Amino acid sequence: MNQQWKNEIRQDLNQLKQMALKRELREVHQASQPWLNLKDRTMLNLASNNYLGLAGDERLQEASIKAVKAHGSGATASRLIVGNHPLYEEAEEALLTWKGVPAALIMNSGYTANVGIISAFMGRNDVVFSDRWNHASIVDGIILSRAEHIRYRHNDLNHLESLLKKSPHRRKLIVTDSVFSMDGDQADLNGLVTLKERYGAMLMVDEAHSSGLYGGQGEGLVHSLRLQNRVDLQMGTFSKALGCFGAYVVGEEWLIQYLVNKMRSFIYTTALPPAVLGSITAAIQVVRLEHSRRVQLFEHSYYLRKQLEQLGFCIGEGNTQIIPIITGTNEATMKFSGRLQEEGIAAIAVRPPTVPENQSRIRLTVMATHQRKDLDWAIEKLARVGRELGVIS
Ligand SMILES: *Cc1c(COP(=O)(O)O)cnc(C)c1O
Repeated sequence: MNQQWKNEIRQDLNQLKQMALKRELREVHQASQPWLNLKDRTMLNLASNNYLGLAGDERLQEASIKAVKAHGSGATASRLIVGNHPLYEEAEEALLTWKGVPAALIMNSGYTANVGIISAFMGRNDVVFSDRWNHASIVDGIILSRAEHIRYRHNDLNHLESLLKKSPHRRKLIVTDSVFSMDGDQADLNGLVTLKERYGAMLMVDEAHSSGLYGGQGEGLVHSLRLQNRVDLQMGTFSKALGCFGAYVVGEEWLIQYLVNKMRSFIYTTALPPAVLGSITAAIQVVRLEHSRRVQLFEHSYYLRKQLEQLGFCIGEGNTQIIPIITGTNEATMKFSGRLQEEGIAAIAVRPPTVPENQSRIRLTVMATHQRKDLDWAIEKLARVGRELGVIS
């Protein structure tokens, strides 16, 4: 590597630091719990995606241990070689019954799922219509596919329709998050289904933040709106509400068969380790049965939202377990987050490019395993620090 290259990279890092955009790794203990430990301090965990508290659940841990003992620590190869250990069938069976769909496939992560699914189905002469606020893995999948990438304004279906109308492409894919990860609002899935049917497009929904949370058994937002037979591909993860790791896609048999044959991020990677599959099957069982966790989560979310709104915080339009406090500049967000951490709240700053310029925010997430008194304690601190920094008056 020559000196010039080295200097450029150092400069880039310095610039990130100056713009309050530099990211750092920090060691976290007890992250699966409602109270975690960061920088040697106990903090209320308002930062994880472990919405139902299942990542710390003993039944999932036991299932993992059992799976390791029976099948070893590694899958040894990709699923199409010899990595397709028996726990896959068990987990995919559980997934199929849960989602009530014809076919299902488990893959390694939400990121690799989105990158692989989109690039398997779409190519150079096709077009993908993507909500402007979709997750980065969707964006990367579209780029990798080489299809035309058309971003429609967030949740603006009139805009989407005007773009669909103009499109001469033979293959059209509409893709959206069900619950948007940084704003905590929902996509208009009914409207999207109408448009995809009207314009002969395919619709893919990413349920990373809704699987496990909506519907009587946590089937997801698509299912809770009874759209499971009208959405072509439902993708989701086991890494958030289900407290494990990995991702899935469900849909018609021929779509899933195609992915097994064409999806490069499925074919050319080692299968998930047995421990993960063991916990996935256990998590599906728990999620289906324990509806009270969902009720608790949404009671908490509603309560925290209402309180923050009354205090005058700018928290957007959502109604889910993800609650943004939009503060604007990177500096203001970093200061707010730093002060909250001093006060014992793990509240993480989210900055560009994860969110648009001047929309930096603290992203709060609630857990079913929080107590109401935890939230009251946090609300009082949020109010105090918010006033101190002029975020609210
Ligand atoms: C987290 C997330 C992913 C990625 O899932 P991982 O399993 O963490 O790789 C994909 N899409 C959305 C909307 C997400 O929030």
